[in-house]
Formats: sequence, C-alpha cells, structure tokens
Amino acid sequence: MKRILVTGGSGFLGSHLCERLLNEKNDVICLDNFFTGRRQNVAHLLSNPNFELLRHDVIEPILLEVDEIYNLACPASPIHYQFNPVKTIKTSVMGGINMLGLAKRLRAKILQASTSEVYGDPSIHPQTEDYWGNVNPIGIRSCYDEGKRCAETLFFDYYRQHNLDIKVVRIFNTYGPRMRHDDGRVVSNFIFQALSNQDITIYGTGEQTRSFCYVDDLIDGLIGFMNTEKGFTGPMNLGNPQEFTMLELAEKVLKITKSKSKLIFEPLPADDPKQRRPDITKAKQKLNWEPKVTLEEGLIKTIEYFKKSLSQ
Ligand code: NAD
Ligand code: UDP
Repeated sequence: MKRILVTGGSGFLGSHLCERLLNEKNDVICLDNFFTGRRQNVAHLLSNPNFELLRHDVIEPILLEVDEIYNLACPASPIHYQFNPVKTIKTSVMGGINMLGLAKRLRAKILQASTSEVYGDPSIHPQTEDYWGNVNPIGIRSCYDEGKRCAETLFFDYYRQHNLDIKVVRIFNTYGPRMRHDDGRVVSNFIFQALSNQDITIYGTGEQTRSFCYVDDLIDGLIGFMNTEKGFTGPMNLGNPQEFTMLELAEKVLKITKSKSKLIFEPLPADDPKQRRPDITKAKQKLNWEPKVTLEEGLIKTIEYFKKSLSQ
C-alpha cells in the first residue's frame, strides 16, 4: 500500500483525486488550508480508515512520511487567485519549495499541478509543450501564471540538481461536480446563472475559446502520469482538445438546463487569453490517454450536481 499526500486535497480536483486514490487502495493524506477547498468535498471520505485530513498551509514546512506527493494546493479561479495575489505567489513558490524539500528528504515522487496559463495568451495554436508562452509578467493574472511558471522552474532544478523523481502536468480548463457555484470560472458561472434564472455573463464578445475537460478524464491522466517511470518528467499537457467559444458553451448550458436566462455582455478582464487548446500528442503516446467524456455528457453530470447541491 502506498501512502500518498494530496495538497489542495479538499478542493475541486483534489477531492476527486483523493477519492480515486482511496478506491485504488492507497493510504491518502489530504492537506488543505480551506481557502477555496471545503470539508464537505471530502466529508464522505472521513470514515475511511485509510484517509486523513490535515489543515495546513503549504507555505509552512511540514514533516510527513509519504511515498508520493500530488501538489495541487493553489486557488485556480481568477477571482480567487486575484483576491490575495501575494499569497497566491507564495503558495506556488514557497509551497513548491516546501513540497520539493519534503520529496527530497523522503526520495518521494512528486507531481506538480501546473497549468495551461503558463502559455499565457498563446501565439501558437494548439499549444504544444515546447512552446514557451506569452505571459504578461506584471498583470493581474501574473501572480498565478508566473507563480506556476516559477514552480515549474523549481521542479526542474530539483530534478537536475537533486535527481528528484518529478512530474509536471499542465492542466487545461477542467470542470465537473464539486466546483463551487461562486467559483467565478465560466462553467460554474453559466450553470449557476442558468439554473437560477439569472443573466448569463459573457465577458467580451464571447468569441474567445477554451477546451473543457471533464474531471474524471483528468484524474485518469494525473494518476497515469504519476505511474510513469523515473526520468519521464513532462511537462505534459492534459486536457480535452475539443475547443469551444464561450458563446457555444452558453448555448449548450441553456439547452441542457432548458433555462430562459438571457445573455448579457460584460467587459473582458485584462489579459484574458483569446484561445486555448491542448496538443495532447505526448499524453496519447506516453500514457495511452485521451479524454472520453464529451462536453455535452460532462455538462449533464455537472448540471445534475449543481441542481442537487443548490436544492440542499
Ligand atoms: P480549487 O481552488 O478547488 O482547489 C485548490 C485547493 O488548494 C483548495 O482546496 C484550496 O483550499 C487549497 N489551497 C490553496 N492555497 C493553499 C495553501 N496555501 N495551502 C494549502 N492548501 C491551499 O481548484 P482546482 O480546480 O481543484 O485546482 C487544483 C490545482 O489544479 C491547482 O493547483 C490549479 O492551479 C490546478 N489547475 C486546475 C485547473 C482547472 O481547470 N480546474 C486548470 C489548471 C490547473
Ligand atoms: N468568462 C465568461 N463569463 C463568466 C466567466 C468567465 O465569459 O462568467 C470567460 C472568461 O473571460 C474566459 C473564459 O470564460 O475567457 C474562461 O474563464 P475561466 O475563468 O473559467 O478560466 P480561464 O480564463 O482561467 O481559462
């Protein structure tokens, strides 16, 4: 039985990851400071003897004994990571150093949840892992983008300098049950607005694109990547290459929810990337991984979850 640490484990992705790792008969330590994560995301796991929940902030060092670390701690939604930008950078950089230090002491494998945001507003499309990105270093998204870029640098320096077994994954927009309805990200906003008969807020013209991956697919990819051999470091894109405009997403949500909500147009936030789609050739070849859940199917499941949680 492996003992696995998941930082940010009570957040959206982290809670699904903890659940899957427990189902695969691992011992799981979920570490979270509950900034955006919620205890209720992992409440159903608390009675499992192989599960442990720790309130801790990754910017402080911690001593634990584990075989693997998934480092997911970091707010992911623009409204949350911009709430306290200095803390966001500290979380990526100091949190990264603390987790890498822990991995070094234990000779544990460590995976970093990086992001498609390292490509910024990309000038090549779709994005391949060898693209260095187009990131504004001083804008309102920079605390997240540059924090994650610095974390990638740290991971590769620990790999080169200390021969650590690192895995760096660049996650593209992922959605599903357990996203917060007040999370501010587009999928949760549109679903919440449609279900509560509020206007659907389209930022800009709505012609900007994103590629949305359903959470179960993403978790398969994360675990598959963690299980690759030492020296296969990534960076590796994980995401669904099907690309949609925000207008198309809004249409789909309205159709599935049968909502009468109207579209309203609001200003586009600064530095909002115009297009985003992962090239997943590497993941296909190396992990034999590709997403299985279409946007329509994933939205249906997510909308069911939101309906249930909003009625409680
Ligand atoms: P989330 O906000 O639901 O989860 C982040 C978790 O980290 C929360 O539980 C939060 O409380 C915790 N956290 C934040 N700061 C912390 C700190 N200093 N110490 C301890 N815990 C802390 O977001 P998510 O969508 O689940 O994202 C998880 C990870 O995946 C993040 O690192 C994010 O950058 C990355 N990612 C997510 C997406 C996506 O589309 N969901 C895309 C790219 C990258
Ligand atoms: N967006 C939108 N309406 C919303 C929330 C977001 O039109 O209510 C747009 C946003 O401007 C961006 C896209 O949807 O172009 C994805 O935004 P999100 O915050 O989900 O993710 P990110 O920009 O980090 O990819």
